[in-house]
Amino acid sequence: MKNDSMYDLCWSMFKYPRSITGDGVRKTLRHIKEYLPTMNIHEIPSGTKCFDWEVPKEWNCHRAYITCPDGSKICEFKVSNLHVVGYSVPVNDWVTLDELQKHLYSIPDKPDAIPYVTSYYEEKWGFCISDKERDELKEGLYHVYIDSEFKDGSLSYGELIIPGDLSDEIFLSTYICHPSLANDNLSGIAVTTYLAKWIMGLSKQKYTYRIIFVPETIGSIAYLSKYWKQMRQKVIAGFNVTCVGDNLNYSYMPSRNGNTLADMVAQHVLSHLHPEYKTYSFLDRGSDERQYCSPGIDLPVCSIMRSGYKDFPQYHTSWDDLSFISREGLQGGYESLKAAISCIEENWYPKVKILCEPQLGKRGLYPTRGIEGHSKKVRNMMNFLTYCDGLHSILDICNIIDVPMWELSILVETLKDEGIIE
Ligand code: ZN
Repeated sequence: MKNDSMYDLCWSMFKYPRSITGDGVRKTLRHIKEYLPTMNIHEIPSGTKCFDWEVPKEWNCHRAYITCPDGSKICEFKVSNLHVVGYSVPVNDWVTLDELQKHLYSIPDKPDAIPYVTSYYEEKWGFCISDKERDELKEGLYHVYIDSEFKDGSLSYGELIIPGDLSDEIFLSTYICHPSLANDNLSGIAVTTYLAKWIMGLSKQKYTYRIIFVPETIGSIAYLSKYWKQMRQKVIAGFNVTCVGDNLNYSYMPSRNGNTLADMVAQHVLSHLHPEYKTYSFLDRGSDERQYCSPGIDLPVCSIMRSGYKDFPQYHTSWDDLSFISREGLQGGYESLKAAISCIEENWYPKVKILCEPQLGKRGLYPTRGIEGHSKKVRNMMNFLTYCDGLHSILDICNIIDVPMWELSILVETLKDEGIIE
């Protein structure tokens, strides 16, 4: 394997020409499969009905550019795949500057950024260009050339099932459809891949893991249309992994319900690890939680993010490149999700087996001398035990007594081994 970090993985896949279908997606999935050999790559044929949607024709862009009146080439697809509007129809024509302007996309207040634009469901062609470069275009005839192809092909996605002791599932989903964009897209792919590697390396895990790499929206809808019934029965918590690579902020996008196990755990982890984190409203949703939390599907899926989509100026522009994400940023996103998954794995409903307070001294659990730091430990233990009524989960208790779950894991094991709780 060539790469050995999440950042390297982002780096090596940055230029793949991703879209909601096509060879760039397959190349991305094959690359992920080098890390996750047991992941299966599936294809859903164009035209397949998925609820209210239909898998579109497969799109591939081979080459594209504009030749200026002076003979120079601009907006070359091979230089940046952001230059071509996703799902552009083929064109090979000479147009005036006025006509060309109708097909150009730029952002005036971000003059050197190339925007990310797609047109999946409306037939058109277009180029994305920095506003600065657009301003410099002279009158004259331009040769516009997009060698793209639509065919009855398929939508590709990756699925990895890691069996656990229980058939109840933890669900991870990330999307694979954005072209050269780092935080809003590659970070999610890299962090999900490394989380899957970590889970597969565990000696045992309680839950079964369903981990999918799908194109956003149409991919999650297509996947749900196949598996939503079993997922509704099995999934106890899920995370849509997106925007986990920058080093600025931490944030949380709730599920629609806002009150699921995934939400509880996300808030627990962030409030202890990154208390300055930002909480979004579900009204700010923008990724596949839109599908996973839609009425009737109602999966317990939320997101733990670094800077949330739309909240960073680089969003959906060429500014969201490999310099916007970092090793530390990706590591922070990864560690937060890993902590959330560990909390779910270690969550259960303890019940004290002894009436009244257990005599801890005779078990060596109660220090006879007051040592600095011990008093807090003892206080946590007594507080923990007092809620071990079989009705509160460990997570519930940790929230009540305001202690991170991972700080009590040794204590919980000890109390279990001593026969004090069950
Ligand atoms: Zn996006």
